Amino acid sequence: MSDTLTHDGGCLCGAVRFQIRLSTPTFNICHCGMCRRWSAGPFLAVHSDGPARFSRDEGLTWYRSSRWAERGFCSRCGASLFWRLANRPDTLAASVEALDAPERLALDRHIYIDAKPDRYDFADARPRVTEAELMAELGLSAP
Ligand SMILES: [Zn+2]
Ligand SMILES: [Zn+2]
Repeated sequence: MSDTLTHDGGCLCGAVRFQIRLSTPTFNICHCGMCRRWSAGPFLAVHSDGPARFSRDEGLTWYRSSRWAERGFCSRCGASLFWRLANRPDTLAASVEALDAPERLALDRHIYIDAKPDRYDFADARPRVTEAELMAELGLSAP
């Protein structure tokens, strides 16, 4: 099922299928170098209110990408799917592009805007926050 807050999603090959519940019908765009290298572009992400429920997870693999975060992907088709704090699995973020019906989600803001390269730009007027501003908000120190 899909309403604005409950979303089904999955990877390219179907070896990962999940459902998440969002706290708000919005997404962020992360421009950090790790997200861009991992997902082949800026990472558009929704934040799940709690862990995902999986109907299929045999392809799901977690990669520890930094001291405090890990990324979930499908080991069969390579789809980039999830980001979470390693010690707080309730902080799950999921790729907007993995969702079956993301059309009604609205852009909240851009994060890691200071890591965005000059070769692309987004035309929206939503807020843009730097790594330092985001780290301060989350109470984390940079990796
Ligand atoms: Zn897959
Ligand atoms: Zn990122």
